[in-house]
Amino acid sequence: MARICDRFDDLGFDGLPRRLGIMGGTFDPVHIGHLACAEQAREAYGLDAVVFVPAGVPVFKKDRPITPAAERLAMCRLSVASNPAFDVSALEIERAGDTYTVDTLRELRAHYPGNVELFFITGADAVVHIVKWRESAAIADLARLIAVTRPGYALTDERKREIEELGAFDVSYLEVTALAISSSDLRNRVAEGRSIRYLTMQSVYDYVRERGLYRVPAPGGEA
Ligand code: ATP
Ligand code: MG
Repeated sequence: MARICDRFDDLGFDGLPRRLGIMGGTFDPVHIGHLACAEQAREAYGLDAVVFVPAGVPVFKKDRPITPAAERLAMCRLSVASNPAFDVSALEIERAGDTYTVDTLRELRAHYPGNVELFFITGADAVVHIVKWRESAAIADLARLIAVTRPGYALTDERKREIEELGAFDVSYLEVTALAISSSDLRNRVAEGRSIRYLTMQSVYDYVRERGLYRVPAPGGEA
């Protein structure tokens, strides 16, 4: 049985240097913004694989009802199916209690040999949270952080300084195609009866329709 994910549990066990990208998020639902930034980070940093890790109980999102983990996981799986360099891990969903990135990175570090380098990919909005998280120094020790640009969240020099001062020194900044897309926006669109076609993969679009997800307006918007 897969410990981390289906496709890449053996990565690096041949002793060759490998690079593994990790994309954390709520993915409620996954959209092309997530996929494009994972793909562009893969290309820019020569990552051998990118694993999407949907959060179980996101620490920062307790203010609104989250779609059941099984459905967010299913949508992630559908979205990566056509990319052999992508996979999904249920690591955080299977772990009881709150989701902490540091625990996930520790679990990945314990599984993979030392020749596998970990890269945690995060959007410009989320990176600021990460450096404020519990054990952010430990995160920085376990993985290199790649902060990708995101419309509406400018990574100003001041922001970058703030990040450095908080201790996560090894942050790489990557300019990716600007896609002003968010899961909040997709949820709101569905709730208002508007289309989300082309904002996510067709398979996810079909899944959302078939399961009737997001039809009821969720209290609380942007997160
Ligand atoms: P929500 O609106 O519910 O917060 P979201 O679109 O921000 O959803 P998350 O699951 O919160 O999606 O994000 C997962 C990761 O993807 C975060 O690191 C976030 O910064 C990044 N991300 C999400 N959308 C984009 C985007 N359009 N461009 C760049 N990064 C993004
Ligand atoms: Mg978000």
